[in-house]
Amino acid sequence: MTSTQTIPDSIEVNGRTYAWPKRPLVVVCIDGSEPDYIEQAIAGGHMPFLAAALEKGSDLRADCVVPSFTNPNNLSIVTGRPPRVHGISGNFFLDPDSGEEVMMNDPKFLRADTIFKAFHDAGAKVAIVTAKDKLRRLLGHGLDFASGRAISFSSEKADETTMAENGIEDAQAMVGRDIPDVYSAELSEFIFDAGVKLMSRMRPDIMYLSTTDYIQHKHAPGTPIANQFYAMMDKYWSQLDAAGADLAMTADHGMNAKFGDNGEPDVIYLQEELDDMIGAAVARVILPITDPYVVHHGALGSFATVYLPDHTNPLEIAAKLSEVAGIANVYDRAGGCAEFELPEDRLGDLIVVSDKNKVLGTSADRHDLSQLKKPLRSHGGVTEQRVPLILTRAADLPKDQRLRNFDIFDVALNHAA
Ligand SMILES: [Zn+2]
Repeated sequence: MTSTQTIPDSIEVNGRTYAWPKRPLVVVCIDGSEPDYIEQAIAGGHMPFLAAALEKGSDLRADCVVPSFTNPNNLSIVTGRPPRVHGISGNFFLDPDSGEEVMMNDPKFLRADTIFKAFHDAGAKVAIVTAKDKLRRLLGHGLDFASGRAISFSSEKADETTMAENGIEDAQAMVGRDIPDVYSAELSEFIFDAGVKLMSRMRPDIMYLSTTDYIQHKHAPGTPIANQFYAMMDKYWSQLDAAGADLAMTADHGMNAKFGDNGEPDVIYLQEELDDMIGAAVARVILPITDPYVVHHGALGSFATVYLPDHTNPLEIAAKLSEVAGIANVYDRAGGCAEFELPEDRLGDLIVVSDKNKVLGTSADRHDLSQLKKPLRSHGGVTEQRVPLILTRAADLPKDQRLRNFDIFDVALNHAA
């Protein structure tokens, strides 16, 4: 900010207006935090700070974006808008021009500015810390790191940060911890430790901390290791609160058990179903949960999209598919994109959502489940849409409003005392 730039009362981005923060605002996205996790951790006495904070704060629930996956929801939270606006509808999509499955990690796929960029451009100090670097690139897009008012890095690559890419040299040295394994609770603890240190060193106006759901994929709510993870977060949140920050917590999506009585993943192999129905390899199933970190979920989630050749009848196939046991809903492209506010050009002819305890795969031979930590817990469907939306301040909201997780900046900045 130059000395002539005055701080505005509010900023506008993607058609929404946000009041300038009165105190530093820390928004936490707890990956895979089904509401039960916090409820049970508080009931068991594992979150003393949050339990006390909620006496004057706001303990709300909200709906996340479907597909209930990490990237579509993180980008919704930080743009304040659904995927129809920001464009990130999954980890993967089928590029209609090349016919190739393409990862959607690259900021070039982003169609909206972030709330961070809008505040930063208006003179705010902004800090973002994520678990995995793939998300960091999207969240930090458009920030001017040369300004000295923006920092964005991942715990995964905190030892490789530079002023030009991240706004900080050697973030690991600032945190003073080893770089954790990508499959660990420590990958998330690193984020909160970094957040506390950035709060004292930089005192950002806006901070965003986004964890990984390694614990939630493996441990059900109320179990000892889950409670330990939430106790860890509670400790750091109390330090951020003591430093004078307002806190607001939500989740990118929930998490449910997805296995049968035998303990094996309960999978509907959609490609096999479609091959039987309309011929081998006529349809093409895309699983937008697919990412390089398969140990969590084996690329098995509760949401899939299907591409069909022109000579087929999508509505006919949708009707047949919806009779398969364990499939909750099948939509055509227009219907599904309207229902879930998704970008039509990045989804297939059909959108398929499974039941609560089922997952969708392509074909059995295309899922290597040998690396999968069982029993499977996963997400992606409507059944993982309910998430917490928690503030350390009291919020005054219109009654009967359907809250979304991507309303969190609006609630925290415009509706909290
Ligand atoms: Zn997630």
